[in-house]
Amino acid sequence: MNTVLEVGYLLTAVLFIMGVMRLRSPATARSGNLTAASGMVIAFIVTVLRYHSYSWLLIGVTIIVGAFVGTYAAKKVRMTAMPQMVALFNGMGGGAASLISIGALHSSWSHGISTPGSSISALLTILIGSISFTGSLLAFIKLQELITGRPITFGAQKLLNGILLALAVVLGIAMAISGGSHDFLVLTIYVIISAVLGVLVVLPIGGADMPVVISLLNAFTGLAAAATGFLLTNNVLIIAGALVGASGTILTQAMSRAMNRPIQNILFGAFGKVAAGGGGGTVGDADGVVQTATVEDVATILAYSRNVVVVPGYGLAVARAQQEVRQLMEKLGQRGVTVRFGIHPVAGRMPGHMNVLLAEADVPYDSLFEMDAINPQFPQTDVVLVIGANDVTNPAARNQPGSPLYGMPILNVDQAQRVIVLKRSMNPGFAGIDNPLYINPKTSMLFGDAKASLTRLLRELDEV
Ligand code: NDP
Repeated sequence: MNTVLEVGYLLTAVLFIMGVMRLRSPATARSGNLTAASGMVIAFIVTVLRYHSYSWLLIGVTIIVGAFVGTYAAKKVRMTAMPQMVALFNGMGGGAASLISIGALHSSWSHGISTPGSSISALLTILIGSISFTGSLLAFIKLQELITGRPITFGAQKLLNGILLALAVVLGIAMAISGGSHDFLVLTIYVIISAVLGVLVVLPIGGADMPVVISLLNAFTGLAAAATGFLLTNNVLIIAGALVGASGTILTQAMSRAMNRPIQNILFGAFGKVAAGGGGGTVGDADGVVQTATVEDVATILAYSRNVVVVPGYGLAVARAQQEVRQLMEKLGQRGVTVRFGIHPVAGRMPGHMNVLLAEADVPYDSLFEMDAINPQFPQTDVVLVIGANDVTNPAARNQPGSPLYGMPILNVDQAQRVIVLKRSMNPGFAGIDNPLYINPKTSMLFGDAKASLTRLLRELDEV
């Protein structure tokens, strides 16, 4: 029986790795997800068989509740709310790893079988898992706007974090050395300190940095799960944890590179706080005139252009206007206009957000161009249609050294012959920074919800 279970776990590990590999391309991502999910099903069955001495009632109730919550969330949660959902689920993973380790440590102390090695592994998991748990919950609360999404800072914050971390390390070492039932009170204090640290680490982070932090906490949860695997001598947990830890770290790096924000800057820079002080661009200072366009103007400009680049952003996802964008592409294509899409790596609220959205509407993959591929094409582009994108087109990132966005690679849409921006108002984007693109003489603004504007535009194109 044991061999069968081990083979089951091995198969799970292989399916997880194959699943992650297939997630690398939009064309194979869906099947990659299914591959990894089937690995999870096998892991689940094997685990239930392995620990069959547990109450079937408890296992059954857990399965039903978990399946209900998962299915409900997958069906109901909007794409734009995905970061909060990931934060919530991730926090649960960290919390679970921490609880398992508390249980294991408690049990080994009670039976007098703890070793410094196993204690260190458990204590590390408790520290990382608890930070991930409370940090992720706070990230969820911020992103869901249950409290302000801006950084919350106070004096001596970093000093307090340092003191708490040092205290946790000292307590951890003391418990690993002396490990015994007399340490339960110390363990409780240790858990509380770890949980408080999670809150304190995420409090000063806000705005556009939040998805990066979620990815980092995700990596933490992976590490905590892998450490739990060592504790329980469970290979599949070690492999799955390592995969989550590694992919979370790589994703965190990729996002911070795309935003040109070193990770220490994200963790300690309190990004949005600077912006809230008004350090944005020149739009608010009325350095230029904002030109508005009507649907009729935009339809005429698009109909008589030769090539158009659509730059989608978060607002497209909010408006759920992906089908209308595809129809616009088709309609312009019938007139001989070439339509391509310029995708910024951090457009939207999660990596690949725009790719998923456009794939949903059957926009062909070969029409999608990454930032580095499309940027040299802008000077030869007749019209750029910016739909609900803001920060990823902000030229302040290129030419205003004082801007908090300075240095972030952007889509150089201002180098095209004309720019048309579809958004509802002059409000800034996620980073809270004004966008000088809107007062560029080449730019015309078509104000309104993206879906409503595109629907009117499609109708108007029939008249041109
Ligand atoms: P932004 O958040 O900068 O801008 C979105 C714009 O969409 C807003 O200015 C808003 O203006 C407009 N909008 C909102 N709703 C609608 C609607 N219904 N119809 C039309 N327009 C609408 O989005 P970007 O995609 O340009 O930038 C992404 C931001 O997220 C960047 O700051 C990036 O750094 C950050 N980020 C992204 C990550 C990722 O992985 N994707 C990870 C980390 C951070 P208005 O209210 O006037 O309509």
